[in-house]
Formats: sequence, structure tokens, C-alpha cells
Amino acid sequence: MRREATMFDRLSSLVVALTLVAIAVILAALSGGDALTIAILAVAGAAAVAVVHGAAPDPLPEGRGEAIAEAPPPPPLSLLRHPDFARWADQERGPLIGTDDHIVTIANDAAVRLLGRHIVGADIRTAIRHPGAIDALTRADATDGAQEVHLADFPRPGQRWTMRIAALSGHERILFLIDRSALDAADRMRSDFVANASHELRTPLAAILGYVETLQDMNDDGDAGTRHRFLAIIEREARRMQQLVIDLLSISRVEADRFRRPTTPVDLAAIVRTTIASLRDSEAERPHDIDARIAEGSLPMLGDAAQLGQLAHNVISNAMKYGRPGTPVTVELVRDGARARLSVTDEGDGIAPDHLPRLTERFYRVDEARSRSVGGTGLGLAIVKHISERHQGQLDIESEVGKGTRVSVAFPLADEAR
Ligand code: ADP
Repeated sequence: MRREATMFDRLSSLVVALTLVAIAVILAALSGGDALTIAILAVAGAAAVAVVHGAAPDPLPEGRGEAIAEAPPPPPLSLLRHPDFARWADQERGPLIGTDDHIVTIANDAAVRLLGRHIVGADIRTAIRHPGAIDALTRADATDGAQEVHLADFPRPGQRWTMRIAALSGHERILFLIDRSALDAADRMRSDFVANASHELRTPLAAILGYVETLQDMNDDGDAGTRHRFLAIIEREARRMQQLVIDLLSISRVEADRFRRPTTPVDLAAIVRTTIASLRDSEAERPHDIDARIAEGSLPMLGDAAQLGQLAHNVISNAMKYGRPGTPVTVELVRDGARARLSVTDEGDGIAPDHLPRLTERFYRVDEARSRSVGGTGLGLAIVKHISERHQGQLDIESEVGKGTRVSVAFPLADEAR
């Protein structure tokens, strides 16, 4: 390292030179020197001063004076104190806290919302007050790596968060808090679904096993009529199981496709006409109650033909199941600006308003016994909702108790159709 001459070195040389010239001039004056001698001394002295002042002192030789020249090492750069850090932290959606030796030096907006403004300046262990967090923070003192800890019942009972601790230099740490409650809710929904599906399958299975055993016990004793009745029940329950398995497979396929936009051009009018024809031909009750009012020509859109057919089938067959026999089920398909709107109206008992928001939940039924008696699985409208969302459709259910129900779905038409 090389050391540069300092201003202090130059000033001290100047002061010494000036002092010597002044002494020489005074001595000359005191010793009776004439004015010319004094003037010559003053000019010579001034010249010497100029020379001394102009000459920079020799730099110190290489390797000498290192101990004096070495500045104290700069303090380590602090990420937490960098002005951009606060700006970045506030752009983070999740709570983020910076600590130095456990004292909170920075908390972003989300952290302040979660834990309160008072945490800044406080010891993080008292601010968080969770035994798992305190343990992890103490352990983080002894390690340089990141740590993760799950915090149950934090910050309120029933909630669950994860805390990640990232170690910076010195005693600085960054804590990230991640809300696990939504993930837990999704886990709960999944396990509820498995439990519900198992329950739905177990009920008809128990009936089938029961009637088979009874038939076996009867040997040849029972009359043909009874045997026939039991066999019909077995067949009905087996078909119920079959429908449930079909709907379970449908819903899992539709859910898996949820984020895949359909790209195939299809004609919605043709799909709805085919669905109505197959419902009229099927063994479903009241096939002649369907009053179809389908727009002339085609209604082109991008879609999955099988899924759109299933949507139309589920909505129309619900109207046939829950509408009063002998009353019309009106199926209307019209062009409505840039959209095609399918509406199915029945004249049934209707649905009370508090049930409406829950109808598209899996296995939600207004009247469980009624749904079972008409062969419902509780999955039909959940499938409709998913298919509608995948096709950017808008699903509306309106109902009036005692009058009937109208279910409609509006889909965007393909560009060339507008
Ligand atoms: P389900 O297989 O039981 O019919 P859905 O998911 O299709 O299941 O419908 C959920 C529930 O919504 C049904 O159980 C029924 O209570 C009610 N529902 C659906 N459509 C109608 C309708 N057109 N009229 C009256 N109630 C209906």
C-alpha cells in the first residue's frame, strides 16, 4: 500500500520555514543591519519558504509505516440498512422481518399488519411469542444456513404459519412468514371429498350385499315376485354406484383440465341438439316434456365437445328430475351479442335462496333423500361449474320456491361468429 503526502505535512514545513525567516530578519534588525540587508534577508527567506512549501515531502518508502497508513476495516455492509431493502420488503406480499441480534430493525407492511407496528425495535422473540419460533431463532444463532419451522396456532388459535429464517452476515437475519391456513383448507377439502365419496359408495354397496345375502338365505323358499323385487333393488343400487363412479371420474378429469383453455372450434347449437335427442331417446322419465328452442344455424365457439355435452346433459336432466312431471322443461339456446346463452327452465318446487350459493359444491344437496330417490350423485352441478369456468362461461342459477328454477350459462362465441 502506498501512502500519499498529507496537507498536515506541508503546513508544518511552512510554519517552520516562516519562523526561521522571521528570526533572521529580527536578528538582522537588532544587530543594526541596514535596510538593504534586512530587505535581502526577507526576500531570500521568502524564496526559501516558497521552495520548502512547494516541495512535497518524500513518500514513505515501500513497506514502511504500514501500521500507521492502514485505515480501520470498513464495517460489514448491511443488507437490512440498504435503502433499497425497505423498498423491496414492502413489495413482498408476505410478512418479512429483518433482525439484528434479535432486535427487529425492519418489518414490511404485511408484517406490521400481522403482528403490529410495535414490533419494530422490540426483541423478535417477545414480538412473536411462540415457543417453536423462539427455539428456531435461538438455533439460528448457531448456524449460517436457512431454517424453517411450522408454527401451529399462530398468531391465533387454529391458524398455521411457516417461518423461514435466512442468516445474513454478523447477527442479521431475515424472517419470512408464510400463511399455511389456505393450504390446510385445501388439504381438508381433499380429505372431505375422499370421505364423502367413500360414504356415497358404501351406502349402495351395503344395500347390494344385504339383498344378495337375503337371496342366498332364501334358497328356493322365496316366491319369484320377492326375488324379482330384490334383484331390481340390487340393479338400481349397482347403477347408482356406476353413475357415481362415472361422475367421480368426470369431476377429476374436468378439474385436471381446469387451466387448459380449449382450442378446438365446436358448434354449441349442434352439441345441445344432440344432447336433447339423446335425452328424449333415453329411458329417462318424461322425455316428451322437453320444449327445445334452439337458435337457427350454428353457434361456433372454442370448446371441448364432450364436456359441453355433459354440461347440457346435467342441467337438462336436473330440470327433468326436480321439475313437476307433466310441466315443460324449456331449453333455450340463443345468441346474445358476443355470447351464446343456454337456459334451462323448469316448473318444480324451486330452491330456497340460502341454498343457492352452495349448489355447485361437491356432494351438496338440498334434499338428500329426494336426490337419492331420483338417482342423483350430488356432483352434477359441481361438474357444470368446472366445465363452465374452463370455457370462460358465466353460470347463473335463479329459483323461486313453489314456481321453479332457471339455470343459465353464457359462453363467449368464437371471434368469427361475432
Ligand atoms: P344431484 O345429483 O343431487 O342432482 P346436483 O349437483 O346436480 O346433484 O345438484 C345439487 C342439488 O341441487 C340437488 O341435489 C338438488 O337439491 C338441487 N337442484 C339442482 N337442480 C335443481 C332444480 N332444477 N330444481 C330444484 N333443485 C335442484
